[in-house]
Amino acid sequence: MKEILEQDLDQDQHTQRILKHFVGDIRGPKDGPTIIAVAGMHGNEPTGVVAIQRVIDILEPLKEEISGRFIGLQGNISALLEDVRFVEEDMNRLWVTSILDKVRRTPFESLKTPDRAELKELLCILDPIVLESPDEEIIYIDIHTFSGTGGMFSITPREERHVELLSQLKIPLVFGVEHALVGTSMEYVEDAGHIGFAFETGSHETKEAEENAYAGLLVLLVAAGLVPANRLEHFGDYYSYLMNKVEGYPHKVQFVYKHIIEEGDDFEMLDGFQNFDPVKKGDWLANDRYGKVFAQNDGFILMPLYQKQGNDGFFIVKAVE
Ligand SMILES: [Zn+2]
Repeated sequence: MKEILEQDLDQDQHTQRILKHFVGDIRGPKDGPTIIAVAGMHGNEPTGVVAIQRVIDILEPLKEEISGRFIGLQGNISALLEDVRFVEEDMNRLWVTSILDKVRRTPFESLKTPDRAELKELLCILDPIVLESPDEEIIYIDIHTFSGTGGMFSITPREERHVELLSQLKIPLVFGVEHALVGTSMEYVEDAGHIGFAFETGSHETKEAEENAYAGLLVLLVAAGLVPANRLEHFGDYYSYLMNKVEGYPHKVQFVYKHIIEEGDDFEMLDGFQNFDPVKKGDWLANDRYGKVFAQNDGFILMPLYQKQGNDGFFIVKAVE
């Protein structure tokens, strides 16, 4: 009897933990897409969670006008509480089929890291939607921020339905990074046949990153047909704000190079690099314990690393078209 009671208690605890991931969930009376926005997959990137909360607040009174469903989630709550990228494992590198399968089969108390427990909780929410509704239109947005400075962008597969939707945001689209970053949640959504992309909105914990995420989400919701533009207060202002922000950046770029940091490299990026700064092959970009790190290609620099946690030093991308 005691055992059963304890089990019930555990069950309840897990349910509580799972529910905590919801920032909000709004379903309208009309048919339409299911849009899932996740933020805080990295715990030192809380601005996206605030932006999602603001979207929920603006949608709530418009419930009757909504076609489809908007779900806002926060990712790694343990890491968010500690304001670290991850506790023991990068949660956004675990979405590999074999790891997901193992995490699903392992009881909560036997999972080897807190980040895996967070992942399992998210899967309890996402699996029934993403895996069990192949015919529904699902759009998944993974919101991030970066440690450097410079313009926002989206990481997306180079597929027509993605490009068509994201082109309405006019933010630079970065193709091919999905092959360089294995195990992101985007991959899990893509494998299930849905639209999934990452939205890198600005520098960590800045008001600008929050505004960019908020404006970007609103434009996307309208573009996807979830809510009519004329029902959203100040939509025009946010649209112009976004257009203003992305002016002067390349529209479409292709991943060409990633500097991988290995354990003990003591990698240090030189000061002052911003997203989309042009670089030439041979430019001095960083230092590590072996000396100077030079650009291996011409192109634009992306996501220069200015924080301790993380294994990607910088990316180089090239304009396409
Ligand atoms: Zn991130």
